[in-house]
Amino acid sequence: MACRPVHDHVHRRRTVTAVLGALVVALSACASDPVPGGPPGNRGGVVEDGSIPEHGTISPFDSEHAAIRGLDPDLLAAVREAARDARAAGVELRVTSGWRSREYQQRLLDEAVAVHGSLAEARRLVSTPEKSAHVTGKAIDIGPTDAADWLVRHGADYGLCQTYANEMWHFELSTEPGGECPVPLSDAAG
Ligand SMILES: [Zn+2]
Repeated sequence: MACRPVHDHVHRRRTVTAVLGALVVALSACASDPVPGGPPGNRGGVVEDGSIPEHGTISPFDSEHAAIRGLDPDLLAAVREAARDARAAGVELRVTSGWRSREYQQRLLDEAVAVHGSLAEARRLVSTPEKSAHVTGKAIDIGPTDAADWLVRHGADYGLCQTYANEMWHFELSTEPGGECPVPLSDAAG
């Protein structure tokens, strides 16, 4: 680093050195922080699983939330573009689920088994961590209903398609922008 010589007495030089040292520490601390859009994980000692409180939603522009940060960049860009256009049409696209950790996905599956009584029935609504596109950041759930409905009708313009017939809220990047969406699978077990 090029610094102008300090001709002052030693005390001043020590102060400058201390300030520079603190700056170096601060800069290296910043470099190790997860960058927005970077992979989620352990942030500030808190393990992130991408969970969003039940019946809660977050904005697709909330770059701080692990559920958003963990998404595939192409998927996120498409959703944000759609959200801007939806807003112009008076519809607010909200995210009810995005990226999920494997552990969180397993917890959702366990809860579904408890509610529906069997793994087979639960699998129609919740995939295993191995199969879920949420775990790889390649799926997003949109709400409320009018927003999901808007995206079912307009999503193909952005490459976004409804994946399962029984989940009108679940979208993946399944075609080119302006392309044609594949026919939805009957359910997640298919
Ligand atoms: Zn989903």
